This record gives sequence, structure tokens and C-alpha cells, in this order.
Amino acid sequence: MNDDQPGQPWGMCAAFGCPLLGTLGSDGRWFCFCHIHKPSSLNDAITARLRGPLSHIVAATLDIRRCGASFHQSPETYRVIQQRLMSAGRRDLLLGANGADCSPHRPGRPIVKQWVARLEGVLIASCAELEKPERQRTQVQTTLIAGPKTAAEFAEAARKAIANSPRVLNEREPGDDE
Ligand SMILES: [Zn+2]
Repeated sequence: MNDDQPGQPWGMCAAFGCPLLGTLGSDGRWFCFCHIHKPSSLNDAITARLRGPLSHIVAATLDIRRCGASFHQSPETYRVIQQRLMSAGRRDLLLGANGADCSPHRPGRPIVKQWVARLEGVLIASCAELEKPERQRTQVQTTLIAGPKTAAEFAEAARKAIANSPRVLNEREPGDDE
């Protein structure tokens, strides 16, 4: 894969096609908080996730930062962000949802800067999923449980898969080796 990515507009993340700003430097190039320090083999998968299933969250973070984390001048922007998140089925990501985004000293008064940090944290966590080495994945391998149709069959297959799997699947700490 070509590491020099021409075609990204100035100021954007160096990963080709990434919709986020390049705000973090690495090896003389600027990446977004999702692409930074990721193997370049994952660049396209991360970009596809940001442009696909995460696009409503990406748009929200860009809109919030564009208005300086203050909606006094642009209440319409706030409405658009909230509507976008709701139509994507992410009411949990709305400003102040379930008591989020507040200082512990001022409950009930959500802070927009904390909100955007929470949204960006969701993007980071979702993209980081893509680079988990297989041995650290705690789910049962899908190839072993692809057959079952009922919950009972699923449970039985899962039991077998766990019994036949490396010990990391038995909820041991990763550092607890030998
Ligand atoms: Zn990026």
C-alpha cells in the first residue's frame, strides 16, 4: 500500500479518504485520533467504518468542533446533530443522555466539550476493535458456532468452543500467563 496519500485536502487526516481532521503528528504526517499509530494495513478498514456505520457520529463531532463547542450562535446546528443521532438509533449519545457529560459537581448541566470528547471516544473505541489480535478477543470464534440455530444449540456449541479454546477465553487476565 502506498504510504504517501496524495489527494487528501490540506488539514485532513493523511489516511486516504478519512473524513476527520489530521490533528496528531506521526512520522511527519498528520492523522486523526482514529488512524494515529494504527498499522497502515488497517487504514482503509478504519476509513470505511468512519464513513459508514459511524458517519453520524463523525458528522456530530465535526459540527460541534466547527462551532467551537458552543451553540449560542447556531442553535440549528445543535438540533441537526441531535436529530441525526436519534435517527441513527443512538439516543445514548445525545447531549447529557443518562446523566453523561456533566461535572460531578454540577449534575444535570451537561458540558458540550465533555460531550464531544465522549463522541470521539466512541469513534476511537470502535476503530480500535479492528486491530485487536485474535488471541485477545474474548468472543467465541464464529467458525465454531456458525451452525447452531436455537439458543440451546448455541449454548451447547459455545460451551464446547470454550472448553476447546486457549485459556484466555476462560476470563483469565491476559497477563496471567504460565
Ligand atoms: Zn483518519
